[in-house]
Amino acid sequence: MKNIEIEVNTLLRGNRISLSKLTTEEIGDEHISTGTETPMTADAFTMSDTEKIAKIETYFKQIMETLGLDLSDDSLKGTPQRVAKMYIQEIFSGLNPANKPKIALFENKYQYNEMLVEKDITFYSNCEHHFVPIFGKAHVAYISTGKVIGLSKLNRIVNYYSKRPQVQERLTMQIAKEMQEALETESVAVIIDAKHLCVSSRGIKDNSSATVTSFYGGKFKEDNTRQEFLKYLDLKTHY
Ligand SMILES: [Zn+2]
Repeated sequence: MKNIEIEVNTLLRGNRISLSKLTTEEIGDEHISTGTETPMTADAFTMSDTEKIAKIETYFKQIMETLGLDLSDDSLKGTPQRVAKMYIQEIFSGLNPANKPKIALFENKYQYNEMLVEKDITFYSNCEHHFVPIFGKAHVAYISTGKVIGLSKLNRIVNYYSKRPQVQERLTMQIAKEMQEALETESVAVIIDAKHLCVSSRGIKDNSSATVTSFYGGKFKEDNTRQEFLKYLDLKTHY
């Protein structure tokens, strides 16, 4: 567990400098992230979704044609438009801040100041280095400082940040940061246990490995609080 956390922290802090010295070939299949924010251009949202779909449809058609696929075939001809719509409206919809879930805070009337754990949140994302799926479970927790949010909002936060081209370390950090801001507390924990199809279906072709990343903020930095959280998860894997 400790090892993974240290790795994540090192990646987020240290590697912008060293990364820039490497060529794409040298980076190869290493899944390295450059920071907590998803790198985006300043003009990312000047085009409408409809314009983006039309543009991606054209480009994806070219990719398929380059592969030698016959787009006059009934089964293939709708694919460029299907892919374009899926990118913008579904699997990459979390790039657009307009789709961010609105989170309302409620007063914690029952004075519940203990830990709240939402475990086994299923998520689907995509690796930003290969554009193939990353999927798995997210386990999140917080300790209320007097405010609470609807439980489904925790799922929505996980889903929103999943629907971007991602690296698992960044996804973990983005969910944690959003929870800290929304819940107005530092005491937030996030564990993500995921499979990367770019590892299992290609490249090294390891079918059984999973990647675990974690974030512990505020009171979760204390060993007893962290252990309590892990106990609730009751997982066979030791995080
Ligand atoms: Zn990948």
